[in-house]
Amino acid sequence: MSTNQNNLPAIISHCKEYGFIFPSSEIYDGLSAVYDYGQWGVELKKNIKDLWWKSMVYMHENIVGIDSAIFMHPTIWKASGHVDNFSDPMIDNLDSKKRYRVDHLIEGFVENLDAEKGAQIIADMELLLSKDDFDGLKNLIVNLGIKCPVSNTCNWTNVRQFNLMFSTQLGSVAEESDTIYLRPETAQGIFVNFLNVQKTGRMKIPFGIAQIGKAFRNEIVARGFIFRMREFEQMEMQFFVRPGTQKEWYEHWKETRMKWHLALGIPQEKYRFHDHVKLAHYADAACDIEYDFPMGFKEVEGIHSRTDFDLTQHQLYSKKKMQYFDNDIDEATGKAYGNYIPYVIETSIGLDRTILMVLSEAYTEEDLSTAEKQDSRVVLKFPIKIAPIKLAILPLMKKDGLAEIAKELMQSCSEHFFCFYEEKDSIGKRYRRMDALGTPFCVTIDHQTKEDGTVTIRYRDSMEQERIHMNDVKEVVMKAML
Ligand code: ATP
Repeated sequence: MSTNQNNLPAIISHCKEYGFIFPSSEIYDGLSAVYDYGQWGVELKKNIKDLWWKSMVYMHENIVGIDSAIFMHPTIWKASGHVDNFSDPMIDNLDSKKRYRVDHLIEGFVENLDAEKGAQIIADMELLLSKDDFDGLKNLIVNLGIKCPVSNTCNWTNVRQFNLMFSTQLGSVAEESDTIYLRPETAQGIFVNFLNVQKTGRMKIPFGIAQIGKAFRNEIVARGFIFRMREFEQMEMQFFVRPGTQKEWYEHWKETRMKWHLALGIPQEKYRFHDHVKLAHYADAACDIEYDFPMGFKEVEGIHSRTDFDLTQHQLYSKKKMQYFDNDIDEATGKAYGNYIPYVIETSIGLDRTILMVLSEAYTEEDLSTAEKQDSRVVLKFPIKIAPIKLAILPLMKKDGLAEIAKELMQSCSEHFFCFYEEKDSIGKRYRRMDALGTPFCVTIDHQTKEDGTVTIRYRDSMEQERIHMNDVKEVVMKAML
């Protein structure tokens, strides 16, 4: 029997206990909403990055990758609208002095109501947000009698906007310094390199530029473990298209990205699309792919039709032409399409949220009790291609030459996939430890191995065991990784 309900606290402690994710600066009591990835977390992260990169860049002839700097010219954030618009409506409680994002406060309140009433309140809230009606939002909070979870009072300030960008100083002497921002999204690094990549890569529209990198947001209420962090990683792709074709491409990328999610082995019913009612200042269509996290359906990826907003703004602010010359013939006019600023479809997925998604999906507590004995295990049922360790190599004992055989096997497999060697503890304990790390295959080397070259291979999910020849182990694992 397995349980997957409301298990966020269990996942958080499992991640810490087994070396996946630690609170940042823990020995100094931590830093709120910042996390460090441990030895297994970093492998999981790398495998997810590789999977995304492969599917976006290697599998599309017309998509290339870049790695732009985190620091960028401050005017970029003026042009992109982040200096003026990258803010969330917040409200403060005068008694607790706590600040809340208005949508989070209302969503938290709604969680305890029946579904129909809750949906009506969320619809009211979205309408007010779409009109930037701050007085209306305050009235909604007051009329619903929403209390501050800390002070338990309704003593609220007015609703105000707070910018989410972190700023810092460039230059060592204060007078010479210039305010710059830690990028709140990786997208702008792609836009400002649009022409560099297009020209040097001789890219023809439609084409895309992909990037994986850190982003920073001074989230006022950061919660949900690695769901909402102040420093996080995004995997973004901007796809440049001919104006007028953006609707088709938007639908194309919605479908393509959903296929990627389903290929993680996560069932369809755990995902849903959520169309934006309030469109960002740059978008003509937008939706989220939401996953059913332990705390309910929440955004894991955004797909946005960003129009020509960003490139037009950069053309305006930088005074450099952001145009593309399209020499394809327009059938309607019989002439080349000529110069234009391309439209953009963006796919933007949070790497850390993806990690939380696969952890939530993989984390399973199984009761293995029999009439004779009580037993249980925690197993992370990761898809094999993203599991941090693919194969554990376990000599039954160190002596009698078993360790040497195990090391030989380790050497022949390690250049193909990540293997883990362990000779301490009983085999049963070692298996359980590997289950907890999500290792799909364990092989045990015993005295029979010395005689006939066979090993016991144990499968994580079924816990079944069989004997195969040592020379076939690499093949079995590699086949399963495809
Ligand atoms: P939210 O509404 O949850 O704040 P958003 O709509 O502002 O997210 P986008 O700007 O569309 O998010 O960013 C794209 C992706 O980056 C999101 O789908 C999410 O996976 C990830 N992301 C955004 N903010 C954070 C954060 N603070 N911590 C972790 N991941 C984040």
